[in-house]
Amino acid sequence: MLLSGKTAIISGAASKRGIGLATARRFAAEGAKVAILDIDAAAAEAAAALGDGHIGLGCNVADKASCNDAVAQVIRQFGVIDILINNAGITQPVKLLEISPADWDRIQDVNLKGVLFLSQAVIPHMRARKQGSIACMSSVSAQRGGGIFGGPHYSAAKAGVLGLAKAMAREFGIDGIRVNCVTPGLIGTDITAGKLTDEMKAKILEGIPLNRLGTAEDVAGIYTFLASDLSAYVTGAVIDVNGGMLIH
Ligand code: NAD
Repeated sequence: MLLSGKTAIISGAASKRGIGLATARRFAAEGAKVAILDIDAAAAEAAAALGDGHIGLGCNVADKASCNDAVAQVIRQFGVIDILINNAGITQPVKLLEISPADWDRIQDVNLKGVLFLSQAVIPHMRARKQGSIACMSSVSAQRGGGIFGGPHYSAAKAGVLGLAKAMAREFGIDGIRVNCVTPGLIGTDITAGKLTDEMKAKILEGIPLNRLGTAEDVAGIYTFLASDLSAYVTGAVIDVNGGMLIH
């Protein structure tokens, strides 16, 4: 098992068909104890379904105090945190001129500020132990300037995640903490909230060499690689999980 004896926090892992929950299942199967942190009250239920020893806590990643409280509780229960998966995110399919100030703030707050706040809550603990692996969720949208589903504010937030994660990798490598990103293409989850039509899907498939949408498990596999010692000498990296949608 790749994560035997490790403990992990995964944000945004309550949603039933989501990448976070698929990752939680995979981590548990690889021997890790998992703490699911989610704004959705289903977090505890999702953790219970993973089996004994896992925990689910309410946490709004866009709220610093909420991140600090949740991380303190995980440390109390697990003793240590080896892995942080900054996965929580929201999107909105709008064009640039339609972005209101409130939309901009909401999208930046969850997707980008959330990565900062949860990392700030976990890093002192990892630093004291001189070890840790952090993986952050970006998107192909950051690399190609959107064009899939999320609006320009989502592309901007996910591009911000790339810069933030690389800066964290640079700053905390000396402390034994690795920080990497994943950049998925279109993954079949509920984030599109039913707004992705069959017509849109068919058009997107034309641009994907592997000729299918991604699955949550496809991304969970990359998070597992980044969390595990298989990637012991990998930091500041960005791993595409996009079926070839963007080859660069
Ligand atoms: P999802 O909607 O199934 O999961 C998102 C999860 O984040 C949900 O459980 C939700 O409750 C949680 N969440 C939302 N706001 C939160 C907050 N403020 N604090 C804590 N948790 C919060 O969607 P998904 O597709 O599994 O998305 C997971 C991540 O992957 C997101 O960051 C998303 O932007 C990113 N992503 C998704 C795709 C895709 O095509 N599905 C592609 C690239 C990147």
